Amino acid sequence: MWKHKNIVPVLLSLGILCAILALFSVISWSWCFVIVLVWMGLSTWGSLDIRLSYFTEIFYRKRYADGQTLALTFDDGPTPVTHDLLDLLREYDAKATFFCIGKQINKHTDIFKRIIEEGHVVGNHTMNHSRAFGFLNEDQVVQEIDSCDAIIQDIIPHKTRFFRPPFGVTNPAVAKAVKQTKHQVIGWNHRSLVMLLKNEDKIVERITRRLKSGDIVLFHDTSVKTLRVVRRVLEYMKQRDMRSVTVEQLLNLEAYAY
Ligand SMILES: [Zn+2]
Repeated sequence: MWKHKNIVPVLLSLGILCAILALFSVISWSWCFVIVLVWMGLSTWGSLDIRLSYFTEIFYRKRYADGQTLALTFDDGPTPVTHDLLDLLREYDAKATFFCIGKQINKHTDIFKRIIEEGHVVGNHTMNHSRAFGFLNEDQVVQEIDSCDAIIQDIIPHKTRFFRPPFGVTNPAVAKAVKQTKHQVIGWNHRSLVMLLKNEDKIVERITRRLKSGDIVLFHDTSVKTLRVVRRVLEYMKQRDMRSVTVEQLLNLEAYAY
């Protein structure tokens, strides 16, 4: 119901009606301004909160999870840190999903290969992870996705079906692009905020306090601090018989097109 494709016709109709009524001085023009503000507010909220699926369908958790499984996910790699992270995941017999940047795969191809060899799943996180991603048009988003896919496909060799937009931003251009490239958008319902918060105890407490079966947790395999936090989270999970699986396993979706 509260989706972009449903709301736009309603707001557009209201806007036209408002303009006609204002033109004949039945109501004030300020009502039209309110409609524009609501439109802008909903679009901004829908762009920034990946859990809303406002512009396109987004998988961000397993709603009716059974058992004790959840999915740890890592964005922006591979980086040299990913090597140590893979050791850590192996130590705890955990599987994860890595949303990789094309240019990072080019830099650290060996590490990318190791991710695959060790049974983890990879998804597309664009070629360049542009800071202006939210302002790219449909063709530019498609190009970012396709370029990253081409690099992955050279190595795996399968086309990815999972896509995570940089910064979790979605908008009409991203929605049209993923429809064209046939990718499933994978979000999260739990962000670790390792990069934003300073105190590691608080970060771990914040993650573990709300951790539950079916969660998709966002990390970035870009800092040693992440390694320390993930170790403590994995230890917490181990003590409670909780297990990290890939997004593919958690959501029962196909990660690759064969
Ligand atoms: Zn990212």
